[in-house]
Amino acid sequence: MSIRPIYLDCHATTPVDERVLAAMLPYFTENFGNPSSISHVYGWEAEAAVKQTREILAAAINATPEEIVFTSGATEANNLAIKGVAEAYFKKGQHIITVATEHSAVIDPCNYLKSLGFEITILPVQKDGLIDLTELKKAFRPETILVSVMAANNEIGVLQPLAEIGEICHEHNIIFHTDAAQAIGKIPLDVQAMKIDLMSLTAHKVYGPKGIGALYVRRRNPRVQLAPQQHGGGHERGMRSGTLYTPQIVGFRKAVEIALAEQATETQRLTQLRQSLWEQMKQIEGIHLNGHPQQRLAGNLNISVEGVDGAALLLGLQPVMAVSSGSACSSATTAPSHVLTALGHSEQLAYASVRFGIGRFNTQEEIDRVARHAIATIQSLRKTSFMDSRAEKPQSDLIPAD
Ligand SMILES: *Cc1c(COP(=O)(O)O)cnc(C)c1O
Repeated sequence: MSIRPIYLDCHATTPVDERVLAAMLPYFTENFGNPSSISHVYGWEAEAAVKQTREILAAAINATPEEIVFTSGATEANNLAIKGVAEAYFKKGQHIITVATEHSAVIDPCNYLKSLGFEITILPVQKDGLIDLTELKKAFRPETILVSVMAANNEIGVLQPLAEIGEICHEHNIIFHTDAAQAIGKIPLDVQAMKIDLMSLTAHKVYGPKGIGALYVRRRNPRVQLAPQQHGGGHERGMRSGTLYTPQIVGFRKAVEIALAEQATETQRLTQLRQSLWEQMKQIEGIHLNGHPQQRLAGNLNISVEGVDGAALLLGLQPVMAVSSGSACSSATTAPSHVLTALGHSEQLAYASVRFGIGRFNTQEEIDRVARHAIATIQSLRKTSFMDSRAEKPQSDLIPAD
């Protein structure tokens, strides 16, 4: 058996919890019916399972079951929310506000709408990753139809002030959408108290299966109109056609049930692990914590390191831990993370960053091993880069002028 690195990339995805898998399995085989089949027991069983998930998800965010629209994940939910509102309300106005640190599943639909003639305001963030509410208010125009601000950031874990944003949006009769892919099951969410009109959810960041998510769509005060982005059999009250994926929907329910039941204790446990990792790491010089120190997801630690090369750092960490760097690597180019540059970081600091995503199955012992190896890696990279710079420099440079 090969030894695999310690998994610390829980913002990218999480393993399916065994309890979730067990709940899903019968729905692949015995209970395989189509929830839309209304004339036999196979369909009824599946429909009952789907209904149960709708109820649990609705209760989790203080919505009603009719306000839940199943999608393939948060990417699709974001697309449906943003493009669906744009298409339904374009006669009212064509201006949308979002934030520089959003996930590409929000930024890209906005850019697409821009190419169609919509106007998009991208709000900056402060040094701690939070938006400035006065900047938000200043961005409002009579033709603003939508504000999209994420609940929890997938790179730096920062939690935006949803209730304050919702309050301001409702005062101005503007629809408020939040991408809560990283937040569901991890922080309290309440669409009434927070005045949220649209909320994107996904199962696979919270120990559920990949390929299932949902969009909450407010039906009262106000009733949000959405233009469907996928047409067909009229499922999900016409907002999202396609046969519902019952096993995944069952897994989504179980994942959210477990996360909510364990939320309080797990938040405490993860906060301790993250604090422990940071206490150990911050001993080294020239290390920066990215994002607000408290107002963040319990399991998120994101750091930047001075004086080391980002790619070399990640390479050095790889044998021991599965983490991500802030930089989005594509085959041809490595661009620094748009989230870290939005914090005002230099290119070097944005490149030399590590995102630790601590999750349900990590232990203190793993965190200690990770900290030891990360510290040793950074120190050894600094030593080599110092020797490299000595070797490259002409000898005379090293001799004091006097
Ligand atoms: C993971 C993630 C998404 C994409 O969700 P999928 O379900 O994988 O499509 C969108 N937004 C945020 C903030 C995420 O973390």
